[in-house]
Amino acid sequence: MSQRIKIKALLESEQTDINVTVKGWVRTFRNNQFIALNDGSTNNNLQVVVDFENTDPALLKRLTTGAAISVSGLLVASLGKGQKVEVKAKEIEILGDSDPEKYPLQPKKHSLEFLREIAHLRFRTSTFGSVFRVRNSLAFAVHQFFQERGFIYLHTPIITASDAEGAGETFHVTNFDLLNPPKTESGEIDFKEDFFGRPTNLTVSGQLEGELGAMALSDIYTFGPTFRAENSNTTRHLAEFWMIEPEMAFYDLNDNMDLAEELLKYVIKYALDKNAEDISFLTQRLEDEEKQKPQQERSEMSLLEKLQFCLDNDFERLTYTEAIDILKESTPNKKKKFQYPIEGWGTDLQSEHERYLVEKHFKKPVILTDYPKQIKAFYMRQNEVDANGHETVRAMDILFPGIGEIVGGSQREERLDKLEQRMDEMGIPKDELWWYLDTRRFGACPHAGFGLGFERLVQFVTGMGNIRDVIPFPRFPKNAEF
Ligand code: ATP
Ligand code: MN
Repeated sequence: MSQRIKIKALLESEQTDINVTVKGWVRTFRNNQFIALNDGSTNNNLQVVVDFENTDPALLKRLTTGAAISVSGLLVASLGKGQKVEVKAKEIEILGDSDPEKYPLQPKKHSLEFLREIAHLRFRTSTFGSVFRVRNSLAFAVHQFFQERGFIYLHTPIITASDAEGAGETFHVTNFDLLNPPKTESGEIDFKEDFFGRPTNLTVSGQLEGELGAMALSDIYTFGPTFRAENSNTTRHLAEFWMIEPEMAFYDLNDNMDLAEELLKYVIKYALDKNAEDISFLTQRLEDEEKQKPQQERSEMSLLEKLQFCLDNDFERLTYTEAIDILKESTPNKKKKFQYPIEGWGTDLQSEHERYLVEKHFKKPVILTDYPKQIKAFYMRQNEVDANGHETVRAMDILFPGIGEIVGGSQREERLDKLEQRMDEMGIPKDELWWYLDTRRFGACPHAGFGLGFERLVQFVTGMGNIRDVIPFPRFPKNAEF
């Protein structure tokens, strides 16, 4: 008998009337005759035709949803609708039974919430098969994009003693016995006794270390897990998520925006080419889901159209100040429809404002630049004070339809005096970040970078509404199952 062939290759094969061996999991078995077999290589199932009159009834009984089987038989042109080829089984072997009374996945529609509770099995559904094949392609495309451009993939640490943003929403790392940690004479926890001799945490961003790499290697990127103990139960936040963070020497903010836009288009195009069937399946899934919503809440474009539209159009670029002017004059603001009305200049935009700009006003991806200095991190390059006395920094956020912020970045402050002054103002300890400041002391140069939230990207490309459904095993408040 021939070697095992994956179902994707088999369905694309031009040859028929050859002997093949396939292995996979039974999705359905109907009329004691037709097995829909899936092995994860494609969204499409292979139809296996069983000669039930000449098959042991005991074996037929074991062909249940979820069972792992090996089938050898003849690949033939299919007479039935829906598939070009099928396999006429000559030999079926049950590799692993699946008791239909106990198997949680039934051949019917399950809610995404229920599937989250059985995340160890949800890979076996069409939806999650597609989501994770698309996620895989996007990850590969990210590396390919940067590698083609001579970027160095730099592994920044996961355990750090610095909190890049000063946000404080970190997970502590310790090997203390939490019930009985060593204390100092004054009764405080004695971190000198801890594993690293100081308090440490899981990284919230690899940026600061990434900048160090860029100051020698020119262009670097990180692509790794980041952790935030933010107690935000939203469809856009995870406690553990993956981030792509490039840092480029000799880039200004415009170069930075160009790179980010090019990256997003590149990886979306890659997935569209590579995962056409998965994306077409997910487009249909979203359409079915949206049918449950009232007409005015449904999106005007299908998933496929949205992705194509994103490739075909330049992202709209404008400053925070221009955005505030648009928002002030907007109908929802005048009619007091915003939960947070736009009054003056200087406050952070809420997601309702971002959505208005992206989904209603421009109807395409938007890049906002030059945010107020007060609401952004210490390392962003300070602009000259403008005619209205506004103090801004060279920040940029990319906002996507249905997602909100997908990228946050900036040109970095390379001038030592300005950087130190800002750190003092914000109470960021300069002595702890001596190594970061050293890059401003020795061979400083203009440079820029950004962070792209990988799961938000996967959400956009798959059309999944909840970020918990685009990472294999989501971590969020009160959940670390699996
Ligand atoms: P948000 O305002 O949406 O919480 P942020 O301003 O905290 O985002 P950054 O610190 O700039 O985000 O992080 C860079 C990118 O990482 C964001 O643009 C987003 O794509 C992603 N991101 C941030 N926080 C999370 C999270 N908790 N879960 C998943 N992705 C996230
Ligand atoms: Mn956040």
